[in-house]
Amino acid sequence: MINDSYYDDYDLKENLHFDSKTVHGGLGCDPITGAVSFPIFQTATFRHRDFQISTGYDYTRLQNPTRQELERTMAILEEGLEGFAFSSGQAANMSVFGILKPGDHVMMSDDIYGGTYRMCEDVFSAAGCEFTYLDMADMDQVEAALRPNTKMLYIETPTNPMMKVADIALLAQFAKKHGLLFVVDNTFMTPYFQRPLTLGADIVVHSGTKYLCGHNDVIAGIVVVNSPELAEHFRLQLKTRGNGLAPFDSWLILRGLKTLSLRMRKHDENAQKVAHWLRGHEKVKKVYYVGFEDHPGYEVNRKQSAGFGGMISFTLDRPETVRKLLSGVNMILFAESLGGTETLITYPLTQTHESIPADIREKLGINECFVRISVGIEHVDDIIADLEQALA
Ligand SMILES: *Cc1c(COP(=O)(O)O)cnc(C)c1O
Repeated sequence: MINDSYYDDYDLKENLHFDSKTVHGGLGCDPITGAVSFPIFQTATFRHRDFQISTGYDYTRLQNPTRQELERTMAILEEGLEGFAFSSGQAANMSVFGILKPGDHVMMSDDIYGGTYRMCEDVFSAAGCEFTYLDMADMDQVEAALRPNTKMLYIETPTNPMMKVADIALLAQFAKKHGLLFVVDNTFMTPYFQRPLTLGADIVVHSGTKYLCGHNDVIAGIVVVNSPELAEHFRLQLKTRGNGLAPFDSWLILRGLKTLSLRMRKHDENAQKVAHWLRGHEKVKKVYYVGFEDHPGYEVNRKQSAGFGGMISFTLDRPETVRKLLSGVNMILFAESLGGTETLITYPLTQTHESIPADIREKLGINECFVRISVGIEHVDDIIADLEQALA
């Protein structure tokens, strides 16, 4: 029988290093059989042994041991109280904004994932919520955007795709002072590099599809919170919206997490080389990469993150060069998404940021010469050689 006493192991792992925590997770092994690979509990429901006796599991929409193992693992990695695994990053965000009531106002990074923007504008604005998009690196803008009905502050850092950096600790102070819920989408950095809850955020959200999974084979979302009240909200979301991650997909993310540290180190190392190479290329006009010392957010990023991540955006000289690059790459895949072992090249204008209105896009610099690259873990010389031949 599975019961909470098995989680005694959980405390023992508190002292482990991050790399070991990713490998050993919440329970790690199956407490009953000792199976080293945590079992996939592919079941919809659970037998009660007797009247009013439950194993703690009733129905998979509410709780499932495999999903719970992933949720506990993510809570450990993000240093939060509780984690929740959703069927996608979008589903996770739907439940984050599900905290809002009609009339509530939210301050958002002006440069966010297109799907998040679409959700705010098409779903939650229609439900009576208000959104202001601003540059979170500029505290004057942040102060000026505050309204009496502001309820939430929602950021990405670095942002997608312009790589703008916001100061998490500073914004956490601001949020606390004004009683706002502070949400950080930590998809780009992952807890390997950056742990927003330790810097004062209330909620961390992830597209688990990206680096946490790492293999481009699952769609998933993660939320980690620091308070029992917020945990209660997300538990209710899973139970009522039925948007929890399936057991097999939970297992795939657990499997991906085991190599998170190795992968992140390699993404980071490769991206540094690719970014510097791009910067020296005659057809590349501008490179957006938080690892450049002259990046305006370099110091803030250094302070709050242990690395720079694997994401780079850049502007080419002409739209024709973009077309040439996207159709000329061989090993590198022209596809949306990011964070997998494969290097992917994305055209935000038509792929990830199509929903963003043209004037905002233009202001941010997401134009027809703009591309984003998710640097994979292949040999860096192959990545650069492929870019070089496609740009020649
Ligand atoms: C992909 C992504 C999302 C959406 O997640 P899905 O898993 O695709 O639903 C949200 N935020 C960021 C930063 C993303 O990259």
